[in-house]
Order: sequence, then C-alpha cells, then structure tokens
Amino acid sequence: MKLFDEHCLLRILLIVVGSLFSVFMDELVAFEEHPYWIIPYCASISFLFFTALFYRFPPSISLSRMRKDLDVPMPSMDGDDFSKVDDLRRSLEEKETLLNMFFTSSSDGFWILDLPTGKVQWSARVAELFGISLDKLGTSFDTLKTLVFESDWAKFTKMLKIALESKQKFSLEIRPVLGKNIIVVSGSPQMNEEGRPIRMFGSFVPKADILSFKNPFFLDELTGLKNRRYFLEHLKEKVNYAQLHQDYSFALILIDIDHFGRINDVYSPQFGDCVLKLIAERIVSSCQQQDCVARISGDIFAILLHDVNGRDKGKMVEFAQNLHSKIRQPLQLEGKELLIGASMSVILNNDLDASDDLMSHATTLLRNLKSGDCRGNIQFFSGGLREKAMQVYQLEYELRKAIQAKVFTLVYQPVVDVSKDNKVVSFEALVRWNNSERGMIPPSEFIPIAEETGLIVPLGELILRGACRQAKEWVDLGYTDLKIAVNFSAKQFSQGDLVHTLQSILQETGLNPKNLKMEITEYTVMNDTKKTVEMMRQLTAMGVEISIDDFGTGFSSLSYLKNFPVHTLKIDKSFVDSLLEKEEDAVFIRTIIGIAKSLNLELIAEGVETKEQLDFLKKEGCFMIQGYYFSKPLPPTEVLDFLQKKISSSFLKQLA
Ligand code: C2E
Ligand code: MG
Ligand code: MG
Repeated sequence: MKLFDEHCLLRILLIVVGSLFSVFMDELVAFEEHPYWIIPYCASISFLFFTALFYRFPPSISLSRMRKDLDVPMPSMDGDDFSKVDDLRRSLEEKETLLNMFFTSSSDGFWILDLPTGKVQWSARVAELFGISLDKLGTSFDTLKTLVFESDWAKFTKMLKIALESKQKFSLEIRPVLGKNIIVVSGSPQMNEEGRPIRMFGSFVPKADILSFKNPFFLDELTGLKNRRYFLEHLKEKVNYAQLHQDYSFALILIDIDHFGRINDVYSPQFGDCVLKLIAERIVSSCQQQDCVARISGDIFAILLHDVNGRDKGKMVEFAQNLHSKIRQPLQLEGKELLIGASMSVILNNDLDASDDLMSHATTLLRNLKSGDCRGNIQFFSGGLREKAMQVYQLEYELRKAIQAKVFTLVYQPVVDVSKDNKVVSFEALVRWNNSERGMIPPSEFIPIAEETGLIVPLGELILRGACRQAKEWVDLGYTDLKIAVNFSAKQFSQGDLVHTLQSILQETGLNPKNLKMEITEYTVMNDTKKTVEMMRQLTAMGVEISIDDFGTGFSSLSYLKNFPVHTLKIDKSFVDSLLEKEEDAVFIRTIIGIAKSLNLELIAEGVETKEQLDFLKKEGCFMIQGYYFSKPLPPTEVLDFLQKKISSSFLKQLA
C-alpha cells in the first residue's frame, strides 16, 4: 500500500478530524450518566484513522494513471524475478510506444471518452479530418457539435446513449461542415468488472478510406475496377457533396457494350472476359486519376467524372466522343479482330434537380438508346431531353385516350419459307397508331411508354383481339395453315392474367390456338423466369407456339433454350444488317443456325432487305425470311392480294 499518493491530503485531513474528535474524549468519559456513548464515539474515531491509513481510493481512469499503477506492486523478488520484471516493463514500454505511434500515425482518428469525468482524448488525426487544430478540439464532445451537421450530431448523441445503455458498438456516418468527405464514426464501450461502462473507445474514418480501392469488397475481380457497390456509394457521396458545394459538378457516364452476349456465344466466355478487360483498360486510360471507373454489371461500365466545371460542356461532349470512338476501335485478341459497339449515356449532376435519381435517369437513357434505332450512339441528358420528358408525359396521356377510343390499327408482315417456293407461312401483326394531330407514331416511340406505364396490358389485349379476329377471317377463307404472330411484352406476363385473357380471346374469336404464335424477347423470359416459364408451358399446352424475338440482343446464355418451351428463334435485324460487313455477325448467325438445328427449333431471319443477305442465309441453312426484300408490313386489305399473288406464282411455276 502506498500512503503518499495523490490522496495524501485527504488522509491528513481525516487524521486531523480524528484527532479533534479525540480531544473531547475526556469530557465524554466524565459524562457518567451515559457511559455507553463512548462505544460509537471510539468506533467513529477508529474508523476515521483506519480510513486515513489503509483505504485505497478508487483510481481515477486516465492513461497516465494507468501507467503509474504499473510501477506500484513490487513484492520481494530475487535477481531472476527482477530481470523478468525488467523484460515485462520493456515490453510494456514497447507496446506503449507502438500504441502511441499507431495513435499518431494512423490515417484513422481515435477518441477515448472517460465516463467518470466525461473528458475526451483525441488523436491528432481527428482534428485533421475535421479541418481544425487539435487544441481547438478541447476535451469534450462540445466542439464536435459545431463541426458536423446538426442532424448528424443528434444522431451521434443518440447512438452514443444507446451504445452505453445496450453496451453495444455503434457506427454512424457524419458529414463534417468543413471537410469534403463523409466520416464514419464508431465507438465501443469498455466495461469494468461489474459490467458497468467506464470508458468508450472509438474512431473516425473517412468513408472514402472504407471504400478503399484495395478493399476486395468493392473490387470487380475480373477487371480490377471498382464494382457496382462501390460506385453507388461513391455516387451518393458526390451527390451529397455537390448539394453543399454549388461550384462543384460531376458527370455520370454509362457505357453498354452492344451485343456482348454474342462474343461469349461465338467465341467463349473466357474470350469475352478478355474483351471486357481490354475495354476496361481503354476506359481507364481515357480518364483522369481522380475519376471513378467501375464495372457495374456484366457488360456495363460506369464513370464518375470529377469536377467537370474545369471541362466545359463542349469539352465534356468531346471527351465522351473520344472515349466512344476509342472503345469502338478494332480490338485484336488471340489473332482475331473484333469491332466493338458501345452505347453511352452522359448526364451532368446539375442537369437534374437534387432529388432526381441520376443513376436511374442514366439507365433509362441508355435503355431507350438501346431499344430505339440509336443503339451504338451517345445520348446526352440535356434541357432538350427534359422537354422530351414532357412530350413523353403528353404522349402517355394521349395513349390512354387512344386505348379508350380503340384507334389503333394493325399491319401484317409476311414470313416466307424460301425452301418451299416462297410460301407464306405466317404474318407478324404490328401495331400502328395514327394520331389525328401528330400523324403516324412509330411503335418504337409509344410501345416503351406503354410498357413503362403498364398501358401495354390493355393495349396488348386490343392488339391480340384484333389480330385473332383477322387471322380467323383468313383461316375461314381457306388459309388454314396460316399463323399469326403477335408481339407480347414482359409486362403482359407479369401483370394481369395473360393465360386467361388469351383463352377467352381465342374462344371469343373462334381462332384455333395452333394458328397463333407469341413473340416474346429474351428479356421477358429472363425477367421472372420461374413464373414466365410456367405461363409459357400453359400456353404451349393450349397449342400456341412461342418465338423468341430479337434473338441475340439480350442475354448471353443459350442454355435456357433447352429448358424452355420455345418453338422459334427470330434472328434480330441488326445481325442481318451487318452480316456481310462484320465477320463476327456472320459467325454469330452460323452459330445460331447450328444451335437451332441441334435443338430442332424453327429459325426466322428478320429485316432481310437485299438479295445478298438472302443468299447468305439460304447458303447457311436459314430458310424462313421476314423483311422488306419480300414485303413491308401490309394493311389487311393488301394481305389477301399478297397471298393470292404468291399462290398464283407458285401455281404457274408448277404448271411450267
Ligand atoms: P419487332 O417485333 O422485332 O418487329 C419487327 C420490326 O422490324 C417491325 O418494325 C418491322 O416493320 C421492322 N422490319 C421488318 N423487316 C424490315 C426490313 O427489312 N427493314 C427494316 N428497316 N425494318 C424491318 P415496327 O413495326 O416499327 O415495330 C418495331 C417494334 O415495335 C417491334 O419489333 C416490336 O418490338 C414493337 N411492336 C410493334 N408492334 C407491336 C405490338 O403489337 N405489340 C408489342 N408488344 N410490340 C410491338
Ligand atoms: Mg416481333
Ligand atoms: Mg424483332
């Protein structure tokens, strides 16, 4: 026990008080009437003396005090013990030095809250993170209150309280008023032997460090770029920052590699991986160090271009165009030369209101680009596009009215079997909207809006009823084998009772299900695979055939074809367009023909416009042809003429 510690004065005081008490002892003894008073009196004096001499006052909790305590108990020891203690002391000193080094050199800031005193110790890094000097931080949390946003401060104090009550760790994001980056503050309480919290230890870490490039959680393994998770966090952070700093703006760019699935199918997934790595490299080399480049899904890359204030809008356009042409430059890999197409959407953060979701706008922009005729181009979000958004809104309103008024018409494009003397095997029904004010609106303009708004369900029903009624007329005229192909979109599978609707329309119109084909895209199948496949089974059980439309533009996996009740594949027009120019398109078509043969699927080539395209397809073994080469979509009145002409020409050939 140590008598001369920091409580020495208190001990002396107790002894003095005890001595003063003992002065009255004589008088008490003289007070004979109540001799038993002497017992508690003596007990009190003894207690005071005993406390003064032997009581160990509770240690105050501080780092310095804890260190001093290590010096204290020194039992009798021999030479060996002394050297052990020396070793121990040295190791403790080393640990302390290391701890100090860690405390001062770490890029994280640390804090210790001593609960009995309420005092806080900070490491110097905390001050740096908040952009002030260490002495200004003081020894309480009061200063911190002024350094972060009010709502964050309220959250912090609340979390602190909960952590102490629950004896659990906490972690929270706070935004410093002066600094740029969000800081993650965490804390964990330390308990004494009785399980009561005595101090709290915690850290301040810039969020950017947590999202470190080296953190595998945020890395895309294949390309070494950041991944989607990182990118979305980073984007959120920059949106917050830009909201607070009017002079800061950034650009978000999404890049989608066109027909990437084909590269996997034609060559191999490993080859596809190498292509992605090379494209990643091209993108990175076009960006500056502080820009953030990520692969956010299979073949979609995202870039966050920092501080585009330095680069005016004209320069931004130039940057995007250069990047676009860089990606599209011929790529040499394993002795092959590939031409890669890419669609890009570009959006500046201040193009939108703060509440607008940049990512979803950029994604919609990209989707529209890919679904329309502009695949492979760059789309900038601009004021013009805002106007366009207004037009879309107006179009949606008019679309509703048009559905109510049933003003849509259908045209029919023949599919011809060139192996059977150009026999017309089916017609694809294509919807047309002749708007009284705007004239003819192409389906590529209003179908996506109908899909987005769910209007495709009532519109699809109108189309199906019209097509079935028309087909029944032709069947009744003697074209009993003729099939009518109707397009269905994913929403029709996910909303409404498609199977039931179809059954009742077939009943109402009297069309045999074997005269009906449904055209769906790969996207529809993949959208909610389990449900869709179940519906496809019910539909095929009824006798309806299913075609995969725009085949090759969607997902890369061909394996699903084996498992799904699919009857026909329709090779997308874009492959037919370039089959004579691009070797990989020709290879792709050959691959598809092979697959269709091995899986016993019917194959239709869409968008055939020239004799050369037709000859190629015929030579490779694709005989079902749809396209302007034979006929544009026809109004119903011209369909019979077309059928009769075909029939009479083959009849004449037979006679010859
Ligand atoms: P799709 O189903 O792939 O239809 C084929 C499109 O290619 C049609 O355009 C057709 O006119 C066009 N086409 C066919 N052959 C040629 C050709 O040789 N050259 C050129 N340049 N074009 C050719 P359309 O009618 O404008 O339809 C575009 C898309 O709109 C359709 O693509 C389909 O996705 C959608 N669509 C059209 N009608 C309907 C419908 O009734 N319901 C649904 N859900 N979607 C429809
Ligand atoms: Mg179609
Ligand atoms: Mg198509």
